[in-house]
Amino acid sequence: MGSIGSNLQEVKRRLAAACVEAGRDANIFTRVPAAAAAAHGVTLLAVSKTFYADAVREAHAVGQQAFGESHVQEALGKIEALSDLRATLEWHLIGPLQSNKTRPVAEHFAWVHTVDRLRTAQRLAEQRPARLPPLQLCLQVNVSGEASKSGVAPAELPALARAVAALPAARVRLRGLMAIPAPAADRDAQRAPHRELAALLAALRRDGLALDTLSMGMSDDLEAAVLEGATIVRVGSAIFGRRPRA
Ligand SMILES: *Cc1c(COP(=O)(O)O)cnc(C)c1O
Repeated sequence: MGSIGSNLQEVKRRLAAACVEAGRDANIFTRVPAAAAAAHGVTLLAVSKTFYADAVREAHAVGQQAFGESHVQEALGKIEALSDLRATLEWHLIGPLQSNKTRPVAEHFAWVHTVDRLRTAQRLAEQRPARLPPLQLCLQVNVSGEASKSGVAPAELPALARAVAALPAARVRLRGLMAIPAPAADRDAQRAPHRELAALLAALRRDGLALDTLSMGMSDDLEAAVLEGATIVRVGSAIFGRRPRA
């Protein structure tokens, strides 16, 4: 592994190459751009879970602004330690969120990728402070070959999406879908669950929901995800190295 800076460069090179292969605009964003631009590129979300605030600081110093965390308590410590950078950091929750732990998330994050029940989204909407922009939400879907048990089943997705999209738009905004497929050996096997998630998003859009985000792809399968239309890829170990603790 190189330094965090050179690893970021290499991940951005891989993303741009995958965009070219996919015939997509090769804009690699370091935080999620305004909705109109988001469809014309890929946002790199640097997954800093298990790494210390100093690693985030190092990535931020070379331009990275969007960071993903899995555990709320751990994230809150880093957000506090990095409060001097608050204006240019964008925090995304990518780990499971229990509906009784929503308040600090509503108060400190910009995005939540892992909503899989209405109750959680309702509480986030109630608890989002009015002085902040709306919390951006993705629904986590349990696509085929999913590694975890979390996520809404595809059959239940349309009803959940309609209900979450109807929550107060000043507090929460449904942006799209997220999945964590199980690791797969080759590119074709990696692409299948990403293609499934993209098809689910397309169906919701045909039903009239204004969604623009596909959060999919990690260090080992980011090319497959970009080829299937990912707009946010969540990359940890390829940037920060092997995780020191689980
Ligand atoms: C840890 C994690 C990642 C990053 O995984 P890497 O293989 O280290 O890139 C992405 N998404 C989620 C939901 C994660 O928990």
